[in-house]
Amino acid sequence: MTYVLAVHGGAGVIAGDTAQEPYHAGLRAALAAGGAVLRAGGSAVAAVAAAVAALEDCPLFNAGRGAVFTADETHELDAGIMDGATLRAGALAGARHIRNPILAANAIMDDGRFVLLAGAGADRFAADAGLARVDNGYFSTPQRHAQLLGVRGLDPDSTALDHSAPEVALRDARRFGTVGAVALDAAGNLAAATSTGGMTNKRPGRIGDTPLVGAGVYANNASCAVSATGTGEHFIRACVAHDIHARMAYGGHGVARAAHDCIGGPLADLGGEGGVIALGRDGTLAMPFNSRGMYRGWLRDDAPAQTRIFREDEDRPALAP
Ligand code: ASP
Repeated sequence: MTYVLAVHGGAGVIAGDTAQEPYHAGLRAALAAGGAVLRAGGSAVAAVAAAVAALEDCPLFNAGRGAVFTADETHELDAGIMDGATLRAGALAGARHIRNPILAANAIMDDGRFVLLAGAGADRFAADAGLARVDNGYFSTPQRHAQLLGVRGLDPDSTALDHSAPEVALRDARRFGTVGAVALDAAGNLAAATSTGGMTNKRPGRIGDTPLVGAGVYANNASCAVSATGTGEHFIRACVAHDIHARMAYGGHGVARAAHDCIGGPLADLGGEGGVIALGRDGTLAMPFNSRGMYRGWLRDDAPAQTRIFREDEDRPALAP
């Protein structure tokens, strides 16, 4: 085993009748982008950035183009990246004009003076770094706008869903679609990256778990790399990504047990919904989720890339190193 890459395109209730092939194709394209980096001997950091940038460019997923709408009918983007070798991290929140938020997070990490930039300051940093700038409308798609209209009956102050809302609106609101990647490179280094438009109809200014080190993203060569997706408020409060690391580092658990115990334990206890992709330093991959599905895929060395959506698609033997 020389390298491993895994990606996700969000967790949530996914309509069974929706054509799924384009989602598989989007995941495969991200695996191809990140896999090419690893195959050429590139770093885990470069691989997760490339994979997530590909998912940001795919309008099917809730990150970059295709991001969900806020209650104000705008887009506010969050992203974070972490290098498990150095514990350096870079993140941004509430950005409006950065075409590929994960590349800006990477530039923030490389700059090294701060970890998390918000709003106009994040947009300005990215422009100064020479990254592509777009109008906020670049991120809009008709599907996301329809989704916003569908959930308008929900409380914009909360991601706790109003269960009196129509079934269709509830189902759409729970199609999260955040993207992420974790990688182990040939040098044995881990990295994680996560990027999102947040939750449909979110209150402007609301920031989820995605850009928060230890909640939606974490990497540490001592244990694992984690990228999360789901109801962000719960992931923040359960410190999900760091909780998985801690179970391994302090409890001596393997990555599969640590990740499953966190999603089934502290996250579920808070009422949280979603999942993680977690990659151990030995190359073991765990992808637990408590929603009906989670868009996910992985590749290991030159073996063919694998993609899955539903729980019943789970193929545990294929996940072993
Ligand atoms: N976790 C993201 C957030 O709360 C949403 C998602 O995973 O789709 O912003």
